[in-house]
Amino acid sequence: MTMEHGEDCCVKVAVHVRPLIGDEKLQGCKDCIAIVPGKPQVQIGSHSFTFDHVYGSTGTPSAAMFDECVAPLVEGLFQGYNATVLAYGQTGSGKTYTMGTACKEGSYIGIIPRAMAALFEKIESLKSQVEFQLRVSFIEILKEEVRDLLDPAAAIVGKVENGNGHAKMSVTGKPPVQIRESSNGVITLAGSTELHVTTQKEMTACLEQGSLSRATGSTNMNNQSSRSHAIFTITLEQMRKTDPIMTSDGMVIEDLNEDYLCAKLHLVDLAGSERAKRTGSDGLRFKEGVHINRGLLALGNVISALGDEKKRKEGAHVPYRDSKLTRLLQDSLGGNSKTVMIACISPADINAEETLNTLKYANRAR
Ligand code: ADP
Ligand code: MG
Repeated sequence: MTMEHGEDCCVKVAVHVRPLIGDEKLQGCKDCIAIVPGKPQVQIGSHSFTFDHVYGSTGTPSAAMFDECVAPLVEGLFQGYNATVLAYGQTGSGKTYTMGTACKEGSYIGIIPRAMAALFEKIESLKSQVEFQLRVSFIEILKEEVRDLLDPAAAIVGKVENGNGHAKMSVTGKPPVQIRESSNGVITLAGSTELHVTTQKEMTACLEQGSLSRATGSTNMNNQSSRSHAIFTITLEQMRKTDPIMTSDGMVIEDLNEDYLCAKLHLVDLAGSERAKRTGSDGLRFKEGVHINRGLLALGNVISALGDEKKRKEGAHVPYRDSKLTRLLQDSLGGNSKTVMIACISPADINAEETLNTLKYANRAR
């Protein structure tokens, strides 16, 4: 039922099935997901889906998921390839847990902390030959507006916002963050904080600071739910320390410029994929839901356009401009970039409908 696709496909899709959690057990939920042993295949009811990888709740999915899905992307940064990791799924399905956006949770180490560790380990091993510079930004997209999570004033604004339900960007006195595209197709964020970091500890502090100021709103599904896309971006610049090679008459053979590489890794904790009606709250929430769906809808369309080899060869239009999310990720999705989508699902039967939606969305991405 699923098509085969080559190793060269630019989007890999993995599924992460979390265990039943306390609340679901209390409600007497049953596990409705079956993982076919030894195969990257999940079954729900009469539906069966095959992905690149499937991680269940046994063993240590965290380490295996990182090694198989994310480590190659971190490695690619050192060759100058941009990359994106996306966690998709309904609220409560484990996106934040999987990404590690909310920092440590017990003994589980999420993708972002693991990516940082791998990055610094590699830098350490190369630093005698290469000079590195690292920058970090952390933003969120809420109601098609980009917010800087590393802005020191953002935490205060967040509180004001939660009070009356309206965004008050002007409180910081800063214009909203703008997405810009340079003539060579590089996407930058104008007006967002980019912090230079030199150690893993400093980078972790950025993650913690941004996670704290991330806007959250309560819905009847999960009061920690987030209706925004949170994007933690690590930019790696490299300069080879070796001297340029000169000829005897002083001509430079090896141009230093060729030894400069810059690449970025976006680690994205997407907004909950549930349909707006399920949040069942006031009109404002619904509006947010509609906007969030716009980002997820555009992402689905972009990824499916990228995954369609026939269309890609024909140079078909990829609708990056349909949302802020896809616009921001434009230079890190498709082309030479590597992308991994991790579809997070709950095994509980009460979530079966949304789980099926998630699996269908993820299946479209292949
Ligand atoms: P989301 O970000 O998709 O809304 P969370 O990451 O906040 O979901 O997860 C919802 C709840 O499920 C949290 O209480 C979290 O600790 C728990 N959880 C998620 N994934 C796992 C997992 N793999 N193992 C154990 N608990 C998990
Ligand atoms: Mg979350």
